[in-house]
Amino acid sequence: MAQDNSTKRIAVIAGDGIGKEVIPQALEVIRASRSNVEFTEFDWGADRFLRDRTTVPPDGFSMLGRDFDAILAGAFGDPRVKTNIHAKEILLGMRFKMDLYANVRPVRLLDAALCPLKNVEPKDVDFVVIRENTEGVYTDAGGIFKQGTPDEIATQEDINTRKGVERIIRYAFDYCEQHTKLDGSPRRRVLMCDKSNALTHAGSLWQRVFKEVAAEFPQIETQHMYVDALCLQMVRDPGQFDVVVTNNMFGDIITDLAAGLQGGLGMAASGNIHPGKTSMFEPVHGSAPPIAGKNVANPFGAILTSAMMLSHLGFTQEAARIEAAVLDAVRQRKTTQDIGGTLGTREAGAWIAERVGHD
Ligand code: ATP
Repeated sequence: MAQDNSTKRIAVIAGDGIGKEVIPQALEVIRASRSNVEFTEFDWGADRFLRDRTTVPPDGFSMLGRDFDAILAGAFGDPRVKTNIHAKEILLGMRFKMDLYANVRPVRLLDAALCPLKNVEPKDVDFVVIRENTEGVYTDAGGIFKQGTPDEIATQEDINTRKGVERIIRYAFDYCEQHTKLDGSPRRRVLMCDKSNALTHAGSLWQRVFKEVAAEFPQIETQHMYVDALCLQMVRDPGQFDVVVTNNMFGDIITDLAAGLQGGLGMAASGNIHPGKTSMFEPVHGSAPPIAGKNVANPFGAILTSAMMLSHLGFTQEAARIEAAVLDAVRQRKTTQDIGGTLGTREAGAWIAERVGHD
């Protein structure tokens, strides 16, 4: 999106658990960056649901699309809501009903000390996973029959449409063409990850579309890997990856593994994007009930997510300053305990805000 002078309107939905702790830190950092944005906060989440049974108010998704330039979300999930219905309706609702079809998850190692692998440097972990976000096994197609009997049957359909597969693969190629690595070198290769040796029907569609779309981008190298092989390779030699495109479920799983390479779930950022529409940005981690409310959650995933959002809105310099401050904090161990520091959530966030404010 090109930079313009208008104030960008951001809907903020902190949600549940550690979302309520990390998002306020992200907001402080954005304020310190002096980006021309204004926030409107929404109380959607478990507390609201338990109070009045509202998950998303009527017209909620249209309102977000109409009145805001971007959404910054925290996490959704609470042990008091056993069905997790509110999380499903809010988070999957935004992804599906607002048609945010590209889940973009950058995987970057900021400091060698954060990686559990031996002899891996930041230059070896700098790839991005583009996950299909609106189809696959997450559409809830299927059902349970003869529940509670010995003959019970459960089916979960894997939905893959020509349109859905084509647009996510094209997004990956466009992304590869338009983005550079952290060191400034161009991105060169799109790898498609599937399980087409076993899931042959869906695999056939993905394979055919990948070849067709790749032909439009002759300057970009292509590669294919089965998802099981990819998991092994990600641990053995993460430096070989550049842009990875995959379906909803494989993208969900491999990005948790990828988060491990960059220092854990507390470090991973993501965007849920539909080019030209209001998009939603959220850290990869969830509500993490065991650590919620203790001021120990790492706010850097949420802070890096806010940098990703600012960059998407055209505030590229502000985003770069925030990323530089996080890098500094990691190097100086001004971090929470999960990545080797001694600070609490608020203190780590305040350190970044202070640093960004002085830039
Ligand atoms: P949800 O059901 O909302 O997905 P979850 O607890 O199942 O929540 P995550 O929130 O992704 O899944 O977290 C799993 C574990 O990873 C947490 O219990 C916590 O130990 C760790 N973790 C996740 N996010 C963070 C963070 N920001 N800082 C520190 N540790 C984290």
